[in-house]
Amino acid sequence: MEIEIATIGGYEEVGRQMTAVRAGDDIVIFDMGLNLSKVLIHDNLRTEGMHSLDLIDMGAIPDDRVMSDLEGDVRAIVPTHGHLDHIGAISKLAHRYDAPIVATPFTLELVKGELEDEQKFGSSNELIQMDAGETMQIGEHGCELEFVNVTHSIIQAINPVLHTPEGAIVYGLDKRIDHTPVIGEPIDLKRFREIGREGNGVLCYIEDCTNANKKGRTPSENVARESLRDALYSMEDYNGGIVATTFSSHIARVKSIIEFAREIGRKPILLGRSMETYSGTAKQIGVEFPSDVEMVGYRRSIDQTLERIMNDGKGNFLPVVTGHQGEPRALLTRMARGETPYDLDAGDKVVFSARVIPEPTNEGQRYQAEKLLGMQGARVYSDIHVSGHLRQEGHYTMLDALQPQHIIPAHQDLSGFSGYVDLASNQGYTLGRDLHPTTNGNIIQLN
Ligand SMILES: [Zn+2]
Repeated sequence: MEIEIATIGGYEEVGRQMTAVRAGDDIVIFDMGLNLSKVLIHDNLRTEGMHSLDLIDMGAIPDDRVMSDLEGDVRAIVPTHGHLDHIGAISKLAHRYDAPIVATPFTLELVKGELEDEQKFGSSNELIQMDAGETMQIGEHGCELEFVNVTHSIIQAINPVLHTPEGAIVYGLDKRIDHTPVIGEPIDLKRFREIGREGNGVLCYIEDCTNANKKGRTPSENVARESLRDALYSMEDYNGGIVATTFSSHIARVKSIIEFAREIGRKPILLGRSMETYSGTAKQIGVEFPSDVEMVGYRRSIDQTLERIMNDGKGNFLPVVTGHQGEPRALLTRMARGETPYDLDAGDKVVFSARVIPEPTNEGQRYQAEKLLGMQGARVYSDIHVSGHLRQEGHYTMLDALQPQHIIPAHQDLSGFSGYVDLASNQGYTLGRDLHPTTNGNIIQLN
């Protein structure tokens, strides 16, 4: 059976991930993501009504025209988790394929939201829920799709595995090795080890190289949780304002902030549209999330809530707000500019449980937001965070578990791949023979 991998998007950037695997006549697509920085650079650009080709030309979504070079039928579209760089182009591209979208419940709910917001295209793709540990048949020639549980900075992330008669194709985006993930099960390393040793083993491993140039291992979410506990407990006797911000989609982190806010005697309130979207979705599908926390999404209601907080005494509350990257229209930035009813006083605390995404636009905006907060006298606690992506020791562990015949580095640009190429070369892989760093729009033939 011929096996081909089309590296469609996310091989020259962190963003707009999309990869297709052809096994004989059957094709499975992994991820259809957005490159958000290509959208944010334009002021007030609304993508909902835009055409796919314009977004492709901007570099915002994957250029899937290479799909016409793959001879076969698409059997499934598989988003691995709910981050926008993995699901953000589904509303623009999925309708071109007569195939179901298969994902875990939380991811699928977020995909539904994306499809509902879309104004240009209508999608009639069937939506199929599949949990980690489950499998489904692909086509009629002995292929099977399996979801293996992984740990990442969003709940219900999986690594999909396409079992073919020639061996397994493991799509390894995005994960870290976490044995104490705060919400959900630890990464299923045992299953990866089995897949590496059963049948024909692993024919190809596509790896998340986001942090491949970083030494050591990525700490567990539990480490971020303990840093957060330490920071918030240090503020226990402060009776002025405390505000926290983090990735809205990082449900485990939001959960930790809510718990520690209550432990230091404050009422947490989630404020901002994306806070309401992600946490509301988590609550709706019944993950271990505090079900009684107040969430407010719309700007007018947010301002009314902030007025209420000021009247009742801000020492009784801990608003958890959007704006961890200093996004100009997010709530924390509006607070920093003094545009909301919430007054920051000298000594008030602002906790960033997020790192700056290393990209000039974000860095500039975050710098500005922190400066504006500082000018009002606020004390800023930065970078209480751990990454969701493997570092080098995690990559070593994955290679040891899977023992793949071929490797394709992904989720970075060529300079970002370099640390991974070094590591894999040291493990006996050879560039061009079984180690294939590549760019967007290529097809790699494996046999
Ligand atoms: Zn991700």
